[in-house]
Amino acid sequence: MITDALVARLCDRVAASTADTFNTVDVFTGGTLAKVPRSSPEDVAEAVEAARETQRVWAGVAVADRIAIFERFHGLLLKHAEEIMDVLQSETGKSRRDAFLEVSAPLVTIGYYARKAPKLLAPQRRQGMLPGLVKTSELRVPKGVVGTITPWNYPFALAFMDIIPALIAGNAVVLKPDTQTALCTLYGVDLLYQAGLPQGLLQVVIGDGPVVGTAIVDTADYIGFTGSTRTGREIAARAGRRLVGYSLELGGKNPLLVLADANVQQAAVGAVQTCFSNSGQLCMSPERLFVHTEIYDDFVRRFLDEVKRMNLAAGYDYSADMGSLTSQRQLETVQKHVEDARAKGATVLTGGKAMPELGPFFYEPTVLTDVTPEMLCYDNETFGPVVSIYRVATEAEAIDRANATSYGLNASVFSKSIEHGERVAAQLKAGTVHINDGHVVGLGSADAPMGGMKDSGIGRRNGAEGLLKYTESQNISAQRVPLVTPPRWLPFGWYVKGMQGLLRLIRRTNIR
Ligand code: NDP
Repeated sequence: MITDALVARLCDRVAASTADTFNTVDVFTGGTLAKVPRSSPEDVAEAVEAARETQRVWAGVAVADRIAIFERFHGLLLKHAEEIMDVLQSETGKSRRDAFLEVSAPLVTIGYYARKAPKLLAPQRRQGMLPGLVKTSELRVPKGVVGTITPWNYPFALAFMDIIPALIAGNAVVLKPDTQTALCTLYGVDLLYQAGLPQGLLQVVIGDGPVVGTAIVDTADYIGFTGSTRTGREIAARAGRRLVGYSLELGGKNPLLVLADANVQQAAVGAVQTCFSNSGQLCMSPERLFVHTEIYDDFVRRFLDEVKRMNLAAGYDYSADMGSLTSQRQLETVQKHVEDARAKGATVLTGGKAMPELGPFFYEPTVLTDVTPEMLCYDNETFGPVVSIYRVATEAEAIDRANATSYGLNASVFSKSIEHGERVAAQLKAGTVHINDGHVVGLGSADAPMGGMKDSGIGRRNGAEGLLKYTESQNISAQRVPLVTPPRWLPFGWYVKGMQGLLRLIRRTNIR
């Protein structure tokens, strides 16, 4: 459990020079959990400078030696998983099952990049301008100091899934976790230093986004942001003015399609798992279910049975299917969306009210039908345990309606035929599409990049792209003999003719 000594040790890792603090909330009880330090913009400037100093040395460390630290970190994460889950649950109110999945995600990230990074980051020979006469290589140079800004819903997974590749690529990181969920992130940072990360390479600052987050965006060499589309736009505009790169993992209004040939029971169980994961506070959770009319009644009956069977509880064991929402703000958003829908004529098939008897921010898993475009929950992200079911007459209608949103993060398709599911997936405008699953297998398939289309983001995490985005490519080309400056005695027109002949020969013989 969280002791004062643990809080003090973790808070020592925060770059904060004043005595200012924030109180964080123990979500299951509503009481105070901890006091965490507040960093100032000056602290951010110092953290970036200190990180920059350490990064110069780190960039010269062999990739294999960098990876060895993360392999030790992997072992420490497994060893301390229970304590991390305790902190994570206190700060977020999520169920132990959701906490387990969250703590597991960085393990997959480490395993993948430990295998792939040495080759991805190694200098690559490239074809030179003229075969044999020009030697060309592509190097991968770290960006320098990466600013990582993360939200409260998956604070541990989202921070480490980004920090790990950024550091392996040779960067330093200045991290701003969400204040409410700072402790679990600091727990991981502490373990990473125990694993041997050079002191100062990973800096943590805590404070209000518009103050401390902005200070990072104004000074770092690259920004990795996960959060709302609204904040993502502000960060993109600011980083754009400085001409520094960024990746943005943003919101969604994800569709789940149950096709006529779906295994209806599997779809009902799968939909419950993904829709109410982390109480729906998951960027990839579906909030819109499009169900083919042929199986609509059967699906709705089975889906409701599964929802009503869910166990909600505030507990530190694995018995709860779903935990609490994380904050009063989130509870109010959910209540607002459901009350608005109810007032405008939606039908509440199940749920629809808070559960203060379980904890201050608990809310029932809620299923709506008859949702229409003038309702808030129709196309705004609720980010809570609220889904709307729509009956569709054809597959084409399901695809059109699934795509009729400004977002494009994740989608799910349920069908007995994977090939059929793949054909539908190819028509969906979403960065990730899951077939017969909601969000787990795509996230866990670290070899394939994932991220958002449209308003759901720019850039990808995972895969080669999730590592190489933290680097600049550098083209190093050498001419082995003088080619671009003809000898003085050669008339330039002859030189042009010679070069054109050479280009023609290369084209014809396809030497390149
Ligand atoms: P916010 O955008 O409000 O906040 C995210 C982070 O950004 C927080 O650390 C916040 O700090 C900080 N921040 C806020 N304003 C600024 C600013 N002007 N400049 C720099 N940083 C700032 O998002 P939420 O916390 O509400 O997170 C939920 C959202 O995140 C949802 O829309 C969800 O869909 C999305 N998300 C996307 C994921 C993805 O991978 N695509 C994954 C998880 C969530 P502070 O704590 O002070 O507010």
